[in-house]
Amino acid sequence: MLGLMQNQQLSISSLIEFAERHHGEGEIVSRRVEGDIHRYTYKEAAQRSRQLAGMLDTFGLQQGERVASIAWNGYRHLEMYFGVSGSGRVLHTVNPRMAPEQIAWVMKHAQDQMVCFDMTFLPIVKAIHSKCPSVKHWVALCDADKVPADTGIPNLLSYEALLAIQPTSYTWPELDENTASSMCYTSGTTGNPKAALYSHRSTVLHAYAAALPDVMCLSARDSILPVVPMFHVNAWGIPYSAALTGAKLVFPGPGMDGKSIYELIELEQVSYAAGVPTIWQMLLGHMEPNGLRFSSLKRTVIGGSACPPAMITAFNDKYGVEVLHAWGMTEISPLGTLCTLKNKHLALSEDEKMKVRLKQGRAIYGVDMKIVNGSGDELPWDGKTYGDLMVKGPWVVREYFQGTGDAEAIKPLVDGWFPTGDVATIDADGYMQITDRSKDVIKSGGEWISSIDIENIAVAHPAIAMAACIGIAHPKWDERPIVAVVKKPGAEVSREELLKFYEGKTAKWQIPDDVVFLEGIPMGATGKMQKTKLREVLKDYQLP
Ligand code: ADP
Repeated sequence: MLGLMQNQQLSISSLIEFAERHHGEGEIVSRRVEGDIHRYTYKEAAQRSRQLAGMLDTFGLQQGERVASIAWNGYRHLEMYFGVSGSGRVLHTVNPRMAPEQIAWVMKHAQDQMVCFDMTFLPIVKAIHSKCPSVKHWVALCDADKVPADTGIPNLLSYEALLAIQPTSYTWPELDENTASSMCYTSGTTGNPKAALYSHRSTVLHAYAAALPDVMCLSARDSILPVVPMFHVNAWGIPYSAALTGAKLVFPGPGMDGKSIYELIELEQVSYAAGVPTIWQMLLGHMEPNGLRFSSLKRTVIGGSACPPAMITAFNDKYGVEVLHAWGMTEISPLGTLCTLKNKHLALSEDEKMKVRLKQGRAIYGVDMKIVNGSGDELPWDGKTYGDLMVKGPWVVREYFQGTGDAEAIKPLVDGWFPTGDVATIDADGYMQITDRSKDVIKSGGEWISSIDIENIAVAHPAIAMAACIGIAHPKWDERPIVAVVKKPGAEVSREELLKFYEGKTAKWQIPDDVVFLEGIPMGATGKMQKTKLREVLKDYQLP
């Protein structure tokens, strides 16, 4: 017997329609590429999203065709989130930090028909447009008078001019909720990038889940600053969850440095911010020497790579900001786990609570997880045994977007589970902790050393700004860890002092064999340390 409830399909257009109707005056504030601060409301965002949908119809773009964005976090990008997907096309958010050849590669692979880009990225578009045969329309996200005449890009159009001639009314198509809505390529640290193709259903369910109290806890009373880029896994789904809750949105645009972020937080009384550790490191690096304090920020969700304990402590103890450690992946829309305490933890000492907070957290309802050994057998949840982390759920990929890759790469599931490539433990309370990425873990004398643990200790030293631990081939032990570090400006620490700092903080055999001082650590397109590049930089390095 079937239930007798309405069978309304989940749709992305319904999110912005809801925001317009119930939070029409809710604010959306953006620092623009043009340099100024732009303000409007959910009502105007909804109107302009409909104008964009109308514009795509005018160009004759078919359902399912891909429209790419190369853009910062801002209101026009937000309109693309709703206008492109809501009208049945697929929004392909392109990461502008990829190399130009890789950008051209993903655009060709996705068969993008239209590309809308912020003027910051004009040089990229100039460099690649002739290598993107599928693209019929190039649209600059700016006013008509800001489009330069001599770009060499065929028929370059102005987004504002195109929108201005469209009516603000539009009837969104009724789509099957499994219709594709957007796509995001992984950063491709191991071979060509692969694309996760999200659906209206996966996106709306993820938006609901992300807003839950034990997840990001978003509400109409929040002022949210997603520093995590909208070109990287839909800014962790925040634009959708914000529309669903009616929260104020504050977009940093190109201003990603510590000073710009701090000023925006204060100016717009941001209560909640989200980003990768490197962004917060820049923010704290600006605040500390200038003796600054937050007047509104209450919570920050940090994920994308392991959040060092020193960062959680700094936010919590110095600035009174609660850090929510999160784990996710492009293939998981991206949220998988988030770390909030349970009732039983509330009576614990601050030190004990910190041990919990350092973990990547508990599975969100909708994500099922397990750890397995090399034979695929499930391992116990004892907080000690580590294994390959597998997940499944309605916002986890089933297959990668079809392309020219090999069959295995396109169909990643193992018995219905997605292998994350991460190695983790899970404790009896269900808290997952990432030990490492399977390709970064250091195998020393038959035992594993977590590169994350080694890095966390280094950055707890007051003189160290960044640390990356890699394994170096060793005739006896297979691999031994070394730690590459970047010192804070003006700070000093010697190799011996840093190695001494490890004593008592980790097992003796896990202490790195050496410290390498660098000016900088290679960063990837998603703001994470790129260990493959670091290994190249240190290819002639010899252990002492
Ligand atoms: P890419 O594979 O392109 O780098 P993602 O941004 O999707 O793309 O990266 C997902 C990976 O990032 C995870 O598999 C995990 O290794 C790492 N990661 C994400 N969040 C955390 C976290 N909180 N702690 C440790 N690692 C994390």
